[in-house]
Amino acid sequence: MTSVSRVLVQGGGIGGLVAATALARRGVHVDVVEHRPPGSVLGVGLNQPGNALGVMEEIGVLDECLRAGYQFSDLRMAASDSSTMVDIPPSLFQGMPPNNAIQRAELCRVLLGAARDAGARLHHGSTIASVSEGPGGVDVTFSAAMADAAVPANGRYDLLVGFDGIRSQVRRHLFGDRYDAEYTGFACWRISLPRPPELDRIVYALAGSIKATLIPLSETSCYVALVVPEESIRPRPSSAQIVERIQSLLGEFSGWIGELGGTLSEKAPAAYSPIEQVTVDEPWYRGRIAVAGDAAHASSPHMAQGAAMAAEDAVVLARCLDASDDLDEALRSWWERRMPRAGFVQQYSAALLRTESGTPTEQDRRMLEIPMPAAHARLAEPY
Ligand SMILES: Cc1cc2nc3c(=O)[nH]c(=O)nc-3n(C[C@H](O)[C@H](O)[C@H](O)COP(=O)(O)OP(=O)(O)OC[C@H]3O[C@@H](n4cnc5c(N)ncnc54)[C@H](O)[C@@H]3O)c2cc1C
Repeated sequence: MTSVSRVLVQGGGIGGLVAATALARRGVHVDVVEHRPPGSVLGVGLNQPGNALGVMEEIGVLDECLRAGYQFSDLRMAASDSSTMVDIPPSLFQGMPPNNAIQRAELCRVLLGAARDAGARLHHGSTIASVSEGPGGVDVTFSAAMADAAVPANGRYDLLVGFDGIRSQVRRHLFGDRYDAEYTGFACWRISLPRPPELDRIVYALAGSIKATLIPLSETSCYVALVVPEESIRPRPSSAQIVERIQSLLGEFSGWIGELGGTLSEKAPAAYSPIEQVTVDEPWYRGRIAVAGDAAHASSPHMAQGAAMAAEDAVVLARCLDASDDLDEALRSWWERRMPRAGFVQQYSAALLRTESGTPTEQDRRMLEIPMPAAHARLAEPY
């Protein structure tokens, strides 16, 4: 890798930590600035489909992820009374389990360990204060996002990558407010709870305009995510308000799914997320600065592929930087490879979201002519 020897990653989430690991393992000096404290994780659990597991293998943490998670194969669609409508067979990912559901906190622990072991330097509680780019590099100063953070004063890098999520500061630096996140008009409410015996795979169930996704996380625990139309983004709800909202939404289901409402605890990990979309409609980089993951292409969670796409962006970036001595050529081949795949996930997920809520567009109808198994099979192709 001759075009870059020093890289700054802003954002120590899933994509940022995978990028830090993949680059540091190739001998690159990597600094990661993350404005939250170490181990503070938003959300509950997530599903790693086989393509995400391929990335975990590439950075050397597949076995750890599988040990920490729960593997299952097919997907089930259920009715609002919890009865099975159809089982969708798994996609075949070469040598990988089709799905591994994992607590977000566990995935974060595994990825932090991998990045540190690879030699990346992680700076929690800090963020970029200023950026200026010249022909020889990107000059950055840092500031503390937490009072007690030990923040490096400044640094010069060959490349700055913003894996800083849906409200990316790096994206704003590159493009102003042109690609700010757009609210889809839907929210997602999530909580961990004891796993019922009926849940041995992902189950999707619809009750009117409410979509429940139930995902086993271990022999004893699972989580439920409920997507529902909501006019506007709420100010941050408390744990008690989240539990109350989830109980009322589960009340729209009967059978074993409806009964889950009686098993919720305010102490369990829980989250409210407005569903927002980001579509950077031009190359995800300029000069020595790039954005990736949710910062470039956040999508609704209907294919359970957002984190997988961020992780793929990260390892493909490392491979492209390896393959070319010319930074611009490396970034262009990275973007050309990533953009169609991430765009497909985004468009298919948005089509599912609108169709399930009864408001599909003509373009959504055309998109969903690709049946879900075929859409998943497309993602089983090499990233
Ligand atoms: C309800 C829901 C369910 C989902 N389920 C799945 C699933 O099952 N499978 C799946 O693959 N995906 C799923 N996703 C999508 C997935 O969570 C995201 O796509 C993924 O987290 C994106 O990774 P990222 O690294 O790009 O961004 P993030 O994970 O958001 O990480 C961004 C990081 O940057 C940090 N940061 C932000 N701003 C700054 C700043 N100014 N300075 C320093 N640090 C900063 C943040 O603190 C954060 O740590 C789901 C999403 C939602 C909303």
